[in-house]
Amino acid sequence: MWTLAKRVDALTPSTTLAITAKAKELKAQGLDVIGLGAGEPDFNTPDNIIQAAYDSMNDGMTKYTPAGGLPQLKQAIINKLQQDQKLTYSNSEIMVGSGAKHVLYTLFQVLLNDGDEVIIPTPYWVSYPEQVKLAGGVPIYVEGKEDNDYKITPDQLETVISNKTKAVVINSPSNPTGMLYTQAELKALGDVCVKHNILIISDEIYEKLIYGDNKHVSIAEISPELKALTVIINGVSKSHSMTGWRIGYAAADAKIIAAMTNLASHSTSNPTTTSQFGAIEAYNGSQEAVEKMRNAFEERLNIIYDKLIAIPGFTCKKPQGAFYLFPNVKEAASNCGYENVDDFVAALLEEALVAVVPGSGFGSPDNIRLSYATSLEALEAAVSRIHNFVDNKM
Ligand code: PLP
Repeated sequence: MWTLAKRVDALTPSTTLAITAKAKELKAQGLDVIGLGAGEPDFNTPDNIIQAAYDSMNDGMTKYTPAGGLPQLKQAIINKLQQDQKLTYSNSEIMVGSGAKHVLYTLFQVLLNDGDEVIIPTPYWVSYPEQVKLAGGVPIYVEGKEDNDYKITPDQLETVISNKTKAVVINSPSNPTGMLYTQAELKALGDVCVKHNILIISDEIYEKLIYGDNKHVSIAEISPELKALTVIINGVSKSHSMTGWRIGYAAADAKIIAAMTNLASHSTSNPTTTSQFGAIEAYNGSQEAVEKMRNAFEERLNIIYDKLIAIPGFTCKKPQGAFYLFPNVKEAASNCGYENVDDFVAALLEEALVAVVPGSGFGSPDNIRLSYATSLEALEAAVSRIHNFVDNKM
């Protein structure tokens, strides 16, 4: 009798996908479910990007490319990093992969030996711990406290560092909280990393979605020492509404990039050629659509946030970036008679027909995640359903 590999035993199924599947099932039964689980912009990819990809195919660009990405795409990324972050990278310090998720997967595979520890602040994006475990590593969690905007402090970081620590993950703006680390906060965390010589994995995938007076800073910008220790992870999925194209990149020390490229040459061969041509246009072409989408998200956030915090028992830090709200609903769940937030979320879906993601999947069981990457009309209807549900249960 065959058995599956041990490494998959430890994998936790994605809570986001589970809730999406349940919502789909209810929709198929004819029920009017509003889904706020989406982790992708609801806009189509800008026309100029689609056109560039189409043209590249007509021009015969339909073959394999170098494993770590086309030189023209690497150059476009180098120019972007120079322009936005004032950071200078060379071709050998950039690797393009099939989405930021795949780039992160490849990174953990080349970095970790069995038992190596990676520090992951909670709440976290669902794939970090699973990818670390798949590479034989051990996730070490540090709680980003609600009263510190779900961010970790240098003291907290210091206390979890051991002689097995290889890296720490910083995701700013954060999925699921939408919070941003300031330059001073990053510098203070960076000082601890420099002192202990640990790598910083800086996931900047939501960099272009920043609201109000807030500003995105990459920890690599702060000093040459920090740049040397940082692996920047980014891509076009969220910034240019290109989730299905699967293009992401890493910018890091050439030795790390060479190992990642070598591994990719035996797994994907290369990121999809057509998508790479689309991504070249995304970086080199007009950025008007990026700003338009950012504006739309900000407008929705400002309208929906006030309505959300008016729900009894909901408290929510106002997000500074990304497209998620992450309210603490522990009190609301308890007022409505539920033992925990997971049960509250299940009832919201079955009785109020609103799909949200329970915070337990992000290591934060008192919260729920709502995505505002959906129409304002649907958002307003969903929040009003949640409000009525809570009012009626109390
Ligand atoms: N990092 C974070 C924090 C994300 O939220 C996501 C997507 O949801 C990714 C990385 C992966 O993005 P990509 O679509 O480029 O794989």
